[in-house]
Amino acid sequence: RPVIVWFRDDLRLSDHPALHQAAASGGPLICIYVFDEDSAQLRSPQARPLGGASRWWLAQSLRALAASLEKRGARLILRRGPAAAIIAELARQVDASAVHWNEIEIAPHRAVADDLAEALSVAGIDHHRHRGDLLATPAQVRTKEGRGLRVFTPFWRRVLGLGDPPKLLPAPKTLSATQGLSGDQLDSWMLEPTKPDWAGGLRESWTPGEGAAHHNLTAFLDGLPGYTEGRDRPDCAATSRLSPHLRFGEISPRQVWYAARFAAAERPAIAGDIDKFLSELGWREFCRHLLHDHPDLAERNLQASFDAFPWITDAAALHAWQRGGTGYPIVDAGMRELWHTGVMHNRVRMVVASFLVKHLLIDWRCGEQWFWDTLVDADAGSNPANWQWVAGSGADAAPYFRVFNPILQGEKFDPAGDYVRRWVPELASLPAKFIHQPWTATPFELAAAGVTLGGNYPEPIVDHRVGRERALAAYAKTRQH
Ligand code: FAD
Repeated sequence: RPVIVWFRDDLRLSDHPALHQAAASGGPLICIYVFDEDSAQLRSPQARPLGGASRWWLAQSLRALAASLEKRGARLILRRGPAAAIIAELARQVDASAVHWNEIEIAPHRAVADDLAEALSVAGIDHHRHRGDLLATPAQVRTKEGRGLRVFTPFWRRVLGLGDPPKLLPAPKTLSATQGLSGDQLDSWMLEPTKPDWAGGLRESWTPGEGAAHHNLTAFLDGLPGYTEGRDRPDCAATSRLSPHLRFGEISPRQVWYAARFAAAERPAIAGDIDKFLSELGWREFCRHLLHDHPDLAERNLQASFDAFPWITDAAALHAWQRGGTGYPIVDAGMRELWHTGVMHNRVRMVVASFLVKHLLIDWRCGEQWFWDTLVDADAGSNPANWQWVAGSGADAAPYFRVFNPILQGEKFDPAGDYVRRWVPELASLPAKFIHQPWTATPFELAAAGVTLGGNYPEPIVDHRVGRERALAAYAKTRQH
């Protein structure tokens, strides 16, 4: 009798508990991915459809997974519609002996899996829910009162205290597949843009799939040391570029954990960098655990005092921010990098988020939504948790009164201006001393660099000092409530 493996946000073959167990059971396999935009939303209003950049990534990742399965003798069946109903029906049709999947610890996804589990139980078909893509499950990291931890350092200490995560599972070498099942053509799902085709920059920047994920991990670990300082420099390629691969489960955090630990054991000189890197992976965990405890993380302030915050509606300013036209080079560079590549350097994410929320007084949810649509690593936990962190409304958040100065941030983390020059080419000929504040150059110096403020590059949309004071005044009002 066939065994079904339901692929979800785990588009890989190695360290895939569900696939591993299903393959070990010996029956012919049916590997299925269901594109289901509605079930999670029906079960929970907080679930959102994938953003545009994520849809593009998903299409590439499914192609890569299908190719890897084919190499091993199996096939990826694609279906679209309500996942629980489709898989339960398939299991009945083929008289499956069992259905396996890896758990996703996000409420709407769990709810869909619960529906499937129930339908299978009614039909008398076995199902096995395997451990998902977290180093520690939410149940393992609780206070005495049974609540999740809201401060990162004790959270991460507790995760580290659990010791190594479960051992890695190898990819099955060969798979026996069930023949004759029909599925959708991936193109019929229209995940990729056509007219206009805005994905050129994504194609240039990324190779989705399990192979590329491991390539990035190896290249990153070989290139250390220097992560601890380098990770803050958008002008250097010092980080792992693993985030979209982790988001779609092309690599598991356990694989990253063991590879990093192994590298540190081999080269003690990089042990400090490895600890820092693993703690970043810890932030991913922390965000996921927060989401587990607060399914409305993308909608509701974790700190209720922010419910009274006097956000303003300013469509023109929001548009200027989205398109990289604020007149602050480091902000504009970040927003253009995001539009072109589907990611933005972490330091710059903090700067642009702070600028939107504080200098422009625009609700963090507007920025979070834009990131959700444009990031290839858009994550239901990390994105809102980090936005709330920057806004000051979140868990273990930066205080609202800490307003990033976009000029100083630029000068500190992009000292020669190389990052700005790359993404804001109209400023490329400006000397470094003006690159983060072009308005301080004389008209002669601007003309020599081919820059016309208010012409080919905008004047600052808001004066830094004015914006900062306005933000602090708004915050003071909130605190009076
Ligand atoms: P590395 O420095 O190599 O870090 C390794 C891994 O650790 C990353 O791949 C990522 O999985 C995790 N990580 C690192 N920093 C963080 C962090 N602050 N929070 C959570 N996980 C982290 N990351 C996402 O994966 N998805 C998002 O939607 C997302 N939205 C963000 C929004 C804002 C406003 C900010 C400030 C940060 C956001 N981040 C998000 C976190 C971070 O910017 C990216 O994870 C990082 O830039 C990815 O690059 P990397 O893989 O080279 O990171």
